[in-house]
Amino acid sequence: MLRLPCMDKAVQLTGLTQPELVSFVETLGEPAYRGRQLFAALQHRRLRSFEEMTDLPKERRARLNEAGNASTLKIESRYVSADGTRRYLMKTHDNRPVETVFIPEERRDTICFSSQSGCPLQCTFCLTAQLGLLRNLTAGEIVEQIIVALNDAYGDGVKTPRGTNLVGMGAGEPFLNFDALLKAIRIVGDPDGLHIVPNRVTVSTAGIAPRIRELATIADRPHLAISLAAPTDELRNELMPINKKWPLDELLDACKEFEKSLKPGERFTFEYVLLKDVNDSDEQARQLANLLNRHSLRAKVNLIPHNPAEPLPYQPSSEGRVESFREILESKGVHAFVRKPRGRDILAACGQLAARSTSPVSIQQQPR
Ligand code: SF4
Repeated sequence: MLRLPCMDKAVQLTGLTQPELVSFVETLGEPAYRGRQLFAALQHRRLRSFEEMTDLPKERRARLNEAGNASTLKIESRYVSADGTRRYLMKTHDNRPVETVFIPEERRDTICFSSQSGCPLQCTFCLTAQLGLLRNLTAGEIVEQIIVALNDAYGDGVKTPRGTNLVGMGAGEPFLNFDALLKAIRIVGDPDGLHIVPNRVTVSTAGIAPRIRELATIADRPHLAISLAAPTDELRNELMPINKKWPLDELLDACKEFEKSLKPGERFTFEYVLLKDVNDSDEQARQLANLLNRHSLRAKVNLIPHNPAEPLPYQPSSEGRVESFREILESKGVHAFVRKPRGRDILAACGQLAARSTSPVSIQQQPR
């Protein structure tokens, strides 16, 4: 039997795998099938309270309620962008902010989840950095973000019409909360639950090289994206200080190692935020292409026009500059795409998550 901190009221049941939930109910004197029933209620039907689990006898629900929590995140605000993107600002039981973004797309909707409350890394173009690290999120809190977003977007427990992609690109550095992240990915991939398989999940890192190597060894792993932001160590040290610990050559060596684990048709992605007059010149595009080619990396580059937010000292590059940067990469054999910013008006776009309220005009506060 699995060891669980089971009689602790703080057990977050959304953070338990199906076998762990079975063990949990067994410690309460319940048969194993009740654990499977509970897993389906939490993860498949996406119920967030025991009262809603009316197929469980009332006294059993009361007992479960004493031993664990069906949900712990409180939705403080919900903001809806003119482009349909939704941002949820939630609070943990100990009052830490958690932000999640739902991005409707033509083919398949995407949920961007956070792995930490705040972030310890000091990327200068990112608003989250200004919060510092408040704490790591638990596996249950990561899973719950997805449940909240799905319920809000489609209706409580309603089957997602087109399936869902997940991206770990919200607040925090996912690889500094590696175990909880992997556990959450395992839980959401369970076919009896949310059934969002690792192949639908992409995790983005600022460049924690040892974890990139470790991820490569995991058979059922998510896809990988790496935030680069600069083609030289000198500039990257400035924009992403984590580079001083794992400089570009070391980072790209780890990526090369990761490349061996790619499945047919799979590529990993470099994210490159474009900051006007800082990292967006033709020369820097050539340096970036040369860097990737020198390491013979078969990756694609997503160019992300910077999402401005006070008090960040940067502006987005002009459309013409972005296009010229992209063309230079392509001309040197590096596949590059321009990512369209989503949810800028509600501070939901990349680098804008800092637990802020937006202007009342764009707010639709409908806590559920
Ligand atoms: S870009 Fe990512 S890693 Fe860097 S400070 Fe922001 S949240 Fe943290």
